[in-house]
Amino acid sequence: MDQLPNMRLTTQRQIILEELGKVTSHPTANEVYDMVRKRLPRIGLGTIYRNLELMAESGIILKLEVGGTQKRFDATVEKHYHIRCTDCGRVDDVDIEVQEKINQIAAESCEYKILGHHIEFSGICRECSTKKPSIH
Ligand SMILES: [Zn+2]
Ligand SMILES: [Zn+2]
Repeated sequence: MDQLPNMRLTTQRQIILEELGKVTSHPTANEVYDMVRKRLPRIGLGTIYRNLELMAESGIILKLEVGGTQKRFDATVEKHYHIRCTDCGRVDDVDIEVQEKINQIAAESCEYKILGHHIEFSGICRECSTKKPSIH
């Protein structure tokens, strides 16, 4: 991955990036903290938060625009879609082609210059669907 010129990757950020790149689970800041702490035992949660936000702003990582209460992060910055389990909240990638046509459709029905779109699918993950149904 090319390093962005406007952001020097500190050792901390390098390690955050490496750990984030190892998983496809779109971890929350707390989960990233648990992973990074194994390599940098002295790092604080606040530092992790700050670095994740900065890295997301610089486009090195992706801050997920998905529902749910906690922000999630992704080392895959190329455009792709996500699906969220409405039961346990896990987020996975949906490996389908990016639908560029949808921008055009939107452009034709509103007076905006369309810059992009976000699609979040929702569903029940395999683990949750094999669980015994709970009574709500
Ligand atoms: Zn689930
Ligand atoms: Zn993703």
